[in-house]
Amino acid sequence: MKILTDVHTHTNASSHAYSTLYENMYAAKKRGLELVAMTNHAPSIIDAPHIWHFMYFKALPRVIEGVRLMCGVEANILDKNASLDMPESVLSDMEVVIASIHPPTYKEERGGDHTETWLNVIDNEYVDILGHTGSPDYPFDIDAVVRRAKEKNKCIEINNHSFISRPQNIEICREIALACKKYETPVVVNSDAHFMDRIGEVSKATEMLEEIGFPQKLIMNLTAERFIEYISKKKDRVFKFDE
Ligand SMILES: [Zn+2]
Ligand SMILES: [Zn+2]
Repeated sequence: MKILTDVHTHTNASSHAYSTLYENMYAAKKRGLELVAMTNHAPSIIDAPHIWHFMYFKALPRVIEGVRLMCGVEANILDKNASLDMPESVLSDMEVVIASIHPPTYKEERGGDHTETWLNVIDNEYVDILGHTGSPDYPFDIDAVVRRAKEKNKCIEINNHSFISRPQNIEICREIALACKKYETPVVVNSDAHFMDRIGEVSKATEMLEEIGFPQKLIMNLTAERFIEYISKKKDRVFKFDE
């Protein structure tokens, strides 16, 4: 299984990532990727870029080193109402919106049941992708969330970085993938790279998906064409990538 896009990546605009946008795009070309989405952390987390980072994407070319670029955000989920840390006026301009729980900015307690949070995230019209959902610290009713994501055509992320830096998530990631297979919920498979050599590196995630016989038709970022079509329909925009 070869995933030809990576739609969750960080540049050194997030201070705990270490490569420039150009380095990431160059690495993507070397790996044979067709498209990368730059999705730095939204402003409320301590390592995030200033909000202006998200307001001047027009300065960037749409194709760098022959690889198409989309620009978005990894927004922080702040509470169970799924408030996000970006004003709607900016959020609505993002080409890709991932919403993730990061402990420093999520106000709800660890443990307990976080189903309501994820259901509310799914209902947020701006969110495209539920980011690295597999944390054992924030359990939720997997069936209920995966079913709702299917209804609302939202992608659940299978995050390769979790297999490396969050090993406690692996078993839950597998359960989530099995539920996505069962309910035919769309997924995206991403690196969540914080350094250029990780761009497009999703081998742990694809290994697990292959093991469980996960259908490629549900992987919305398998090719650039498929991902652009998926996002264009949701945002009612035409994406042009002329050099
Ligand atoms: Zn994250
Ligand atoms: Zn991330």
